[in-house]
Amino acid sequence: LASKLPDIGVSIFSQMTALAQETGALNLAQGFPDYDPPLALREALAHHALAPGSHQYAPMPGLPRLRQAIAAQVGRLQADAPAPDPDTEITITAGATEALYVVLAAVVRPGDEVIILEPAYDLYGPAVRLQGGVPRYVRLPAPDFRPDWDAVRAALGPRTRLIMVNTPHNPSGAVFSAADWDALANLVDGTDVLVLSDEVYEHLVFDGVPPRSARQHPALRARSFVLSSFGKTYHATGWKAGYCLAPPALTTEVRRVHQFVTFAVSTPTQHALADVLAADPLDAHARGLAAFYQAKRDAFRALLAGAGWQLLAVPGGYFQLAGYQQYSRATDVAFATELARDWGVAVVPVSAFYHDGYDPGLIRFCFAKELVTLEAATTRLRR
Ligand code: PMP
Ligand code: GLN
Repeated sequence: LASKLPDIGVSIFSQMTALAQETGALNLAQGFPDYDPPLALREALAHHALAPGSHQYAPMPGLPRLRQAIAAQVGRLQADAPAPDPDTEITITAGATEALYVVLAAVVRPGDEVIILEPAYDLYGPAVRLQGGVPRYVRLPAPDFRPDWDAVRAALGPRTRLIMVNTPHNPSGAVFSAADWDALANLVDGTDVLVLSDEVYEHLVFDGVPPRSARQHPALRARSFVLSSFGKTYHATGWKAGYCLAPPALTTEVRRVHQFVTFAVSTPTQHALADVLAADPLDAHARGLAAFYQAKRDAFRALLAGAGWQLLAVPGGYFQLAGYQQYSRATDVAFATELARDWGVAVVPVSAFYHDGYDPGLIRFCFAKELVTLEAATTRLRR
């Protein structure tokens, strides 16, 4: 069989997790917490797992009560934008991953161009290509990885169908400012270019500055698919639950595809998430993530700096980037392999986020880990 993605191997996240298991290295590579979801959420899932009546297909767009709870929360936390309509603007998906794929399948036709800002989450480019789309890659300039909007404008052409953005950004943690959203809005003004805004790290607020959503920009809201993930918000990456917010006409297209990809997401999972969201009208959980992750980030940065590492400034998300040139001149892939085998810590080489293997000489640490894990890792990272 001739592969549709002949140049694509196994995802870097699977590779590095396998290497961590093989070598016994602490896994600071793949982005997932080493702690569990809140007890109330696990109890809610257990309740629905044991209860009769919630084990068959959920409605295709998602359980109404979960969509209502999401609408209420988004309305509260993005108070300067109208809350999404649960009936016509919210679709529950199997993680942000399914939402990404569904949006691309819904809007990209063969030959359409899609602008991707690199470094980019590994599935963006391949998922565009599977639709027959043509990725137009624009590099985010190091060290702060904020878009150079003139470079993005230069990539815009008559075939451009979609611009994919990700804020807070994986892997760099860069967060769009109001000026970035304005620049994007100016760029697409007068065109029919759509925006996919991947906001899975939206609730990780650092230094008191909440990331702003594409939905909070009126001109962008009208043309954006905004994605989020319960995996990040509830420390439940294995539940594979997320959602897509989009205006009604765009949501219709999302659902046309979603119904043929998964049809619907696990029913007990949706009930459990609806229970905890509905029971938290002050958004204590989401708001609490700020202090929770700020403490981890600050501790990890202090530990790593104390161990002699050069860290980049990283405003958001749950990763940290570091250079390693004081230890090695190797490529980032070679150094990441050495770190796992010889130092006992698995990380992700940032070149994995570039379609052409460009090597910025950086590695990515996930700090969504217990403090003891971060301390143990730093002990191993001291030379
Ligand atoms: N987008 C980004 C930027 C991510 O980092 C991730 C996962 N870490 C996803 C999408 C996928 O989210 P999910 O696990 O909900 O499918
Ligand atoms: N998003 C996670 C990361 O960046 C991993 C997701 C996955 O393993 N596919 O590490």
